[in-house]
Amino acid sequence: MAGDPLIELRAVNKYFGDLHVLQDIDLTVDRGEVVVVIGPSGSGKSTLCRAINRLETIQSGTILVDGQPLPEEGKALARLRADVGMVFQSFNLFAHKTVLQNVSLGQVKVRGRKKEEADRRSHELLDRVGVANQADKYPAQLSGGQQQRVAIARALAMEPKVMLFDEPTSALDPEMINEVLEVMRQLAADGMTMIVVTHEMGFARSAANRVVFMADGRIVEDRTPDEFFTRPESDRAKDFLSKIL
Ligand code: ADP
Ligand code: MG
Repeated sequence: MAGDPLIELRAVNKYFGDLHVLQDIDLTVDRGEVVVVIGPSGSGKSTLCRAINRLETIQSGTILVDGQPLPEEGKALARLRADVGMVFQSFNLFAHKTVLQNVSLGQVKVRGRKKEEADRRSHELLDRVGVANQADKYPAQLSGGQQQRVAIARALAMEPKVMLFDEPTSALDPEMINEVLEVMRQLAADGMTMIVVTHEMGFARSAANRVVFMADGRIVEDRTPDEFFTRPESDRAKDFLSKIL
């Protein structure tokens, strides 16, 4: 895993107007690594994730996924977004499609699978995330935790190289948080490369190889969870931890 970079950001800068939201970001995530990104609201965590699958463009710097620069448009961009699975805070399922259709659609459109093959894989994945018996329901008929697990299954169905999670449990009722974190823990244990923005410090401690702490568009610390939580170096991190722990 060390020295086998899957995601590389070099001197990445991003502005929204005058607001410098990503400032000289250097970040490498090796294959099989789980990196948890934490930091105060507005520090640029979502923008960082979105830049990696080109939901946001950057003004300068380089982003490589598996050694390749991000494609700008067309089929290559659709393939990038399949390679870089993303799970958002709001579950973002297609409301007018069943759970099964949600998971199968991209496989057919982007990966070119036959519908039967896609449906077979979808059923396997729905089983893996614990919602096998919900396949024919619509998203609104599911709990938030179930919807988020379907969203994870949908991303996994594309056989991504890396999974990005942007506060996947922040919109969930407390009793549903663990069922989603458990699926993520299992994915991490299975060797998936993951970037996870979360306030769940238990997950960071138990599942992350590294914690990246962001503030004001910069990476302020990038260390092991044990080092970060027991000996944060920066005042920003100490202050942040004192508020959330
Ligand atoms: P985080 O996820 O850490 O809370 P974000 O990446 O969402 O932070 O936002 C970083 C900064 O960029 C914030 O100040 C936010 O208000 C601003 N921002 C995010 N998206 C946009 C946008 N589409 N247009 C203008 N400003 C934005
Ligand atoms: Mg955010």
